Amino acid sequence: MNVDIIIAGAGPNGLMLACELSLAGVRPLVLERLPERTEENRANGLVGQVVRMLDRRGLHRRLSGQPEPPRPAPSFVFGALPLDLGALEDNPLYGLHVPQRRIEQVLEERAVELGVEIRRGHELTGLTQDDVGVHADVSGPDGPYRLRARYLVGADGGRSRTRKLAGIDFPGVTRDDTVSRTAHAVVPAALVDPATGGLDVPGHGPVPPFRHHRTERGMFVYAPFPSRPPLVSTTEWPTAGDGAEAFDAPITLDELRLSVRRVLGADLPLAPPDGPGPHMLRRLVGGNTRLADRFRAGRVLLLGDAAHVHSAMGGPGLNLGLQDAVNLGWKLAAEVHGWAPPGLLDTYESERRPAAERVIMQTQAQSALVAPGAEVTALRELFAELLADRDATRRVAELMAGADIRYDNGGTHPLTGRWASDLTLDAGRGPVRLATLTENARPLLLDLTRDASLAGEASGWQDRVDAIPARVPEAASAVHDRAPVTALLLRPDCYVAWASDAPNPDADERKALHAALEQWFGAPTNR
Ligand SMILES: Cc1cc2nc3c(=O)[nH]c(=O)nc-3n(C[C@H](O)[C@H](O)[C@H](O)COP(=O)(O)OP(=O)(O)OC[C@H]3O[C@@H](n4cnc5c(N)ncnc54)[C@H](O)[C@@H]3O)c2cc1C
Repeated sequence: MNVDIIIAGAGPNGLMLACELSLAGVRPLVLERLPERTEENRANGLVGQVVRMLDRRGLHRRLSGQPEPPRPAPSFVFGALPLDLGALEDNPLYGLHVPQRRIEQVLEERAVELGVEIRRGHELTGLTQDDVGVHADVSGPDGPYRLRARYLVGADGGRSRTRKLAGIDFPGVTRDDTVSRTAHAVVPAALVDPATGGLDVPGHGPVPPFRHHRTERGMFVYAPFPSRPPLVSTTEWPTAGDGAEAFDAPITLDELRLSVRRVLGADLPLAPPDGPGPHMLRRLVGGNTRLADRFRAGRVLLLGDAAHVHSAMGGPGLNLGLQDAVNLGWKLAAEVHGWAPPGLLDTYESERRPAAERVIMQTQAQSALVAPGAEVTALRELFAELLADRDATRRVAELMAGADIRYDNGGTHPLTGRWASDLTLDAGRGPVRLATLTENARPLLLDLTRDASLAGEASGWQDRVDAIPARVPEAASAVHDRAPVTALLLRPDCYVAWASDAPNPDADERKALHAALEQWFGAPTNR
């Protein structure tokens, strides 16, 4: 073997996986066909549980530039319908305005810091596999060469070469009836409402900022990001006369102006932004919703957009893909280290496919809710009535955040299989956030019992699992997902493998803890 693991693609998801593998003690080799990091503008931010997950690796403060932990968003939008989240207890929807280029830069810096080799200008061109490894054909700046690895992960985007070479189908739908136009553009200051930061467009009326704004003719977005030029965007379902004839020509700002006029029924002056670019001016026709037939073919696995593509409405892409990476990293590392229990790697697909299916469901639902037509308007009225109900809003917020996931771990405690919320603990050296304890990505047994008698139960796994006796301040334990807890076994992705609410766990509880340790972290070393 030349290396244990090859990752094809240094997009955000491939880089995140590289970081996770390194934290777990495996140095992957990343192949990236582009010689430089792309200047392309894609994601404008992160939405959902991934914001909290990045906090669990110390990456939130690097991305936000602030030491404070993430905070939930007071409001958001589903299918261009406002979600009032401020009133929700334990609001699950977190967001972080940071462009994808910056996310990739931060992840690349972190991967390099952790010792990952990234070969830019090296494209995966072929692969074959046998029972023990994968041969990868690579085209590099000095010509073609061959590598041998134990596993290869295709994080090479929606058009994944890996997926095709591994013979994995990508069924789904391709739509060609929409056109989206987006530009960095400046609008006259007189049209900006200083109170909201949104627009007041003469002949149309108010347009809130950062919101999908639907009309009977299409959808409009005005997003005045701080320290970046504002983004102006439209989506239309074009018919003859809507500019649909000219899709072969490069887009101009005038084309966007005309589209805004059709969607809002009013003129909005747009000027190119000052300052250094690159500034976005983009037209996207149609879109794909597809899910890979399998996430794994033998020793080849798919990650991120290579495994699933869908509408970008609500920004779910990186919430899904980066959490795929966090799910896969420790499991793949366990295989390389040789302690993975049978079937562990298969839980990557059994856990993450349903998460991808939920994203596909909710993005298709949002696309349906913003389409033109009187029936859609009626559906929206009904939906808006339902969203006046706080439980319905919470449910939609959890769906968008990916916070409603419960992996089937077989446990009985209400937290088992759920993602562990942040907690402030006292582990003997003053208050510490759970998010700090998880930065090294090691499995954790948090023993919150009064006599700290459980921590010793993990001694057979001490090379893999950190057992930490700790106290939780009363107030914090009461709000921990509103379920009492005296011990938690956390996987590196912060999902609860086992939990107890017994003040003095008895022999049966200890047996269940041992079973969970074996289920996720293999046989103990002292057996
Ligand atoms: C217009 C738009 C707006 C979006 N907005 C958001 C948003 O606001 N929030 C959000 O979360 N998501 C958003 N997304 C989705 C997000 O951009 C993607 O989910 C994300 O880029 C997927 O990351 P990835 O690492 O899986 O793939 P990619 O980012 O596509 O990276 C794949 C990498 O693999 C490389 N590669 C390809 N083939 C090979 C090969 N054969 N060998 C080696 N390297 C190869 C490519 O050069 C590339 O660097 C948006 C997407 C679009 C298109």
